[in-house]
Amino acid sequence: MKKHHCAHRNENLTPSGKQRRKLLHLATLGAGVSLFTVPTGVRQAHASGKAKTLLLSCMDYRLMDEIERYMLRKGLYHNYDHIVLAGASLGAITEKYPAWTRTFWDHLDLSVTLHDIHTVIVMDHRDCGAYKMLLGEDYSSDVEKETAVHTTNLMHLKKMINEKYPQIEVETLLMDLKGEVEVILDTSIGQEATQPDEIESAY
Ligand SMILES: [Zn+2]
Repeated sequence: MKKHHCAHRNENLTPSGKQRRKLLHLATLGAGVSLFTVPTGVRQAHASGKAKTLLLSCMDYRLMDEIERYMLRKGLYHNYDHIVLAGASLGAITEKYPAWTRTFWDHLDLSVTLHDIHTVIVMDHRDCGAYKMLLGEDYSSDVEKETAVHTTNLMHLKKMINEKYPQIEVETLLMDLKGEVEVILDTSIGQEATQPDEIESAY
């Protein structure tokens, strides 16, 4: 048998049994080393194999730290699956980029299969460049209008998720650029105060 001098030079060679054992040994060592470098809490979360929560957020670099802090406050630090799509809810349902929609559903299905998640958090944010790009309008100058357009898309996606997975709880959120998070509810739509003169005319 040809003597093997270098572990990295295996081109044109089928690994012998000895080589395979050596590679396996190295792989085992590698796994052992990485285990010792992972913090205990994270290791326990990974060992459970259940992330429980899937987060969908926008790609916007300005809010990555704020999003992580929010998840930390919810007690989910390093314990959630994360899909990043520009526009978050809008990115998942836009007809302009069907591949994004496909990506969202493929990953949601995987998260359900692999980690048995029971919650999806959809985190939109204000002043979203993807909203401007995909909808062709800048909503950020009008807070109410901006809230309304995010509400429409968040509720649309929530409904679609629950049609496929009725058992999953969907939290719909809107973050501002300071990292403050507003819970968006179905009732946010069509809840404009009735004008007094309309009440009078109704009688
Ligand atoms: Zn965005």
